[in-house]
This record gives sequence, C-alpha cells and structure tokens, in this order.
Amino acid sequence: MNVILMGLPGAGKGTQAERIVKEFGIPHISTGDMFRAAVKDETPLGLEAKSYMDKGLLVPDEVVIGIVRERLGKDDCNKGFLLDGFPRTVPQAEALTATLEELGKKLDHVINIQVARDVLIQRLTGRWICPVCGTSYHTLFNPPKEPGVCDKDGGKLFQRDDDKLEVVTQRLDVNIAQTQPLIDYYAGQGLLRNIDGERDIPVVFAEVSSLLRG
Ligand code: ADP
Ligand code: ADP
Repeated sequence: MNVILMGLPGAGKGTQAERIVKEFGIPHISTGDMFRAAVKDETPLGLEAKSYMDKGLLVPDEVVIGIVRERLGKDDCNKGFLLDGFPRTVPQAEALTATLEELGKKLDHVINIQVARDVLIQRLTGRWICPVCGTSYHTLFNPPKEPGVCDKDGGKLFQRDDDKLEVVTQRLDVNIAQTQPLIDYYAGQGLLRNIDGERDIPVVFAEVSSLLRG
C-alpha cells in the first residue's frame, strides 16, 4: 500500500503516521525527520537544509526530491510506504509521479488532514517531542502522563526550534501558499481524500484506517 499523508504543519501527520505504520506495517518516510537527522549529524545535506528550516522556509525541490528518490528505491518500500511531509510542491509531486513510474509503483491513497490555521498555531507552539522515539505530545491536547517525560521510554521531551511562534507563522504561510495547487494536482488524479483533522486523535485515526482499508 503506497500512501501520501498531506496536511499543513501541525495537522497531525506525524501523530497519525505513527499509528498507521504500526497498524499496516509499512515504512514511515518523513522528509522533516530525515532533514532533522542530517542536521543533528552535521552532514552536508544537514548543513544545507538547516539554513532553510531555521527560517521556516522549504528546502529546495531538487534536494528533497533526491533524498526521497533514493529512499523509495530501498527494499523495505517493496511492501509499500507512507510518505509524510512530501510532496509539498507541485514540482515535487511531478517528480514523485516520475520516480514511481520508473520503479513500477503507483499511489493508492493521498490523505489530506485539514485543520484551521488558528488551531495549527496552538498545536505547534504546544508541541513537545521525544528525542528517543520521535513521539509528539502536546502540553494541553495530548499531554504525557508525567510532564516533560515520554510515556514510552522516559526520554526528556524537547521543543523544535522551528515551533517558536515567529517561525511557526512563517512556516504556515509558506506551506499554505503551496498547498492548493498540490491539492488540485491529486484531486485531478482522483486520489485525494480529505479528512477533518480537528477531532480527537483516535477519531481521526479510525477514519484514516477505514479509508486505507477501503
Ligand atoms: P511539519 O511538522 O511542520 O509539517 P516537517 O517536520 O515535515 O514539518 O518539516 C520541517 C522542515 O523541513 C520544513 O519546514 C522544511 O524546511 C523542511 N521540509 C520537510 N519536508 C519538506 C519538503 N517536502 N519540501 C521542502 N522542505 C521540506
Ligand atoms: P505534523 O506532523 O502534521 O506537523 P504532529 O503530529 O506533530 O503534526 O502534531 C502537532 C501537534 O498537535 C502535536 O503536539 C500533537 O500532539 C498534537 N495533535 C496531533 N493530532 C491532534 C489532534 N487530533 N487533536 C489535538 N492535538 C493533536
């Protein structure tokens, strides 16, 4: 099963992706996570990506397309994949279509999680992440049992630099500008499924999983 999970920053892609990969056993390919790992390891890719990420800007298409193309060619993607945070622009979507054709694969579902801008700002500025397992928590909407500590492994939660309010608004505006043409691209292919992402996490997941099974 080959799936794209779309949605603005804070829509709940990572939160739903964690549940989808567990339920359906497909690899989770998050371009944001790949860039953050490269930044942490101070690789040339990380150094290039960091300058864009810190400002809430998109990393150039050719850089993102290159890493996704390489990742999709790996053996574990033969059983399917869940793309999270890619594509984010029409050129990225067109490059993905070409790459999948080369690999003899096709998309089964494009799920778009919809959440209003003011809710996204609340979600992003309250997001805390586990450095060990990557789980996202929220101080109000999805708190850990013990404040600041991951329920699963006891990791000490941190806030992403780009979740600060000044960067959050810039990130949302940059992403909103790219979103409509991308939605039109997949709607035109008859693949797009919109989901109301403002409901509770398990309710959203129930709808996502029933769409994926359908
Ligand atoms: P979010 O949780 O805000 O949706 P991600 O973790 O997916 O964010 O991405 C963090 C940052 O990584 C983005 O602000 C951008 O700089 C970069 N990035 C991730 N995916 C892409 C992409 N497909 N195209 C361009 N830049 C990307
Ligand atoms: P994305 O990967 O799309 O940027 P995340 O999955 O990291 O988004 O979620 C952003 C923040 O919102 C996190 O703090 C998360 O705990 C919280 N969150 C995710 N889904 C919901 C939901 N349905 N209702 C309330 N809060 C949510």
